[in-house]
Amino acid sequence: MPLRCPPGALFVLTALTLSCASDPAPAPPSRPPPTRARPVDVDRRDRAPAPPPVPHLRLRADIDPGAHTVRATATWTAPAGVPWPTLYIHRAARITDARIDDAPGQAHLAVDGAPPPYVDVARPLRLSAPPGRTLTLSYTLALGEDPVADVNQIAPDLVELAIYAGWYPFSPAWRALTYDLEVTMPGDATVLTNATPVAATAPGRVAFRTDAPGNDVALVAAPGVHCQTTRSDTLQLRLCDTDRSAPHRRTRQTHFTDALRTFTERYSRAALDATATVVYAPRAGWGYSRFPLIVVSEERAARSHREPFGEARDTRGTVHELAHFWWQVADTSTDDDWLNEALAEYSALRFTVDTFGDGYLAAAWDDFTAACAKAQTGEPVIGTPADSADRYLNWYLKPAFALLAAARQDPNQMVDYALGAVFRFSYEDRAADAKRLFNQLSHHVDDAVTATLSQRLHAPGWDDATLAAVRSDLGLAPGDPPGPR
Ligand SMILES: [Zn+2]
Repeated sequence: MPLRCPPGALFVLTALTLSCASDPAPAPPSRPPPTRARPVDVDRRDRAPAPPPVPHLRLRADIDPGAHTVRATATWTAPAGVPWPTLYIHRAARITDARIDDAPGQAHLAVDGAPPPYVDVARPLRLSAPPGRTLTLSYTLALGEDPVADVNQIAPDLVELAIYAGWYPFSPAWRALTYDLEVTMPGDATVLTNATPVAATAPGRVAFRTDAPGNDVALVAAPGVHCQTTRSDTLQLRLCDTDRSAPHRRTRQTHFTDALRTFTERYSRAALDATATVVYAPRAGWGYSRFPLIVVSEERAARSHREPFGEARDTRGTVHELAHFWWQVADTSTDDDWLNEALAEYSALRFTVDTFGDGYLAAAWDDFTAACAKAQTGEPVIGTPADSADRYLNWYLKPAFALLAAARQDPNQMVDYALGAVFRFSYEDRAADAKRLFNQLSHHVDDAVTATLSQRLHAPGWDDATLAAVRSDLGLAPGDPPGPR
């Protein structure tokens, strides 16, 4: 597969916490989108320069689900001239050997050191060795029986490992990496990763190699998980789940392939050519994306299905992750990351409302206003920091509803077209920000609609009048006055 996607990091950390209530409302007037020739070059990616070299990880892992352990050897090869950054690994790892360029060295865990962002279980490694280009660490890690960060574990019914488990030495400074991975594990579980399978080198061993830089080594294997691939004229979808998901399998395939086709039509072809693999992992916890692998919670989805609009909520949560095939346009290491989440959540909300109707929108709105009532900071959407207590409200929910209101109010129906332009101009440099968003909106969308959206995204908290105005712009029937926030 050609390297069409620029290197970039993605810590798409998504808590899917929506609850729902029924509140039917009339459907908005539907207006056909105007046809207009696209003024931008949709195929710029075909002329993209080769990405710069990134660190490469060679990882050999023997996983014992019954003992909750992994025994591994990790070799990092850094680009020439790049000094070693601080590396981290799970605090319970036991380093058995360390080498740099095959010269013996020492590595020990600074167990009293601070963890890196997002990986509370990891601690810094202190290296004592000559400088060099390759670092090889052998280690064992026992994860115990409790899931790490609610989502990672080594257990007989599920092996799920990503950076949250700190299961290989990593550095937050390396925001893009390539890897090759060999795994041995007893049993015949299908092993899924965010890389491409390659021919096994030995019986009982599976191997993978990345086609393009990513930001994590993610692996899911469970004896009860099976996959089905759906042919598609856009991104191909592989849906993996257990028999517990059987009643929802067909509708999920339909909705997810619909979403991929819809986003391709709205925003143009995704930046990453790959089969989108969605795994409903048999666990609780939350979902995350490691392209082209998306892992969500089968247990959470099952709980959704027992509540009103359960299918819609299940769909919205997973489609948010699928939307990140497009919305990786802003730098995830900065507060501009709000734009990735806002656009993914808007895309998912709009698709879900289009699919399930405005009864679902009314229910989602009620959940949203309940979340607004619990806001802690009064920060505006644009300006909410990544570590804010209101991150989910301000990065995901508020802009999603504000954009949907704008889309429904724009007389020219050009909001999605403008967002497609943001995608096409930003998937390479990943430098989209509010300025670039409003630049495109001002080119294509009605001025008054753009001004209202800007005011809402810059407003420090949303008062009752703002909530009422957004609700009206969404076309929802007037309801009870929203509560305090
Ligand atoms: Zn997201």
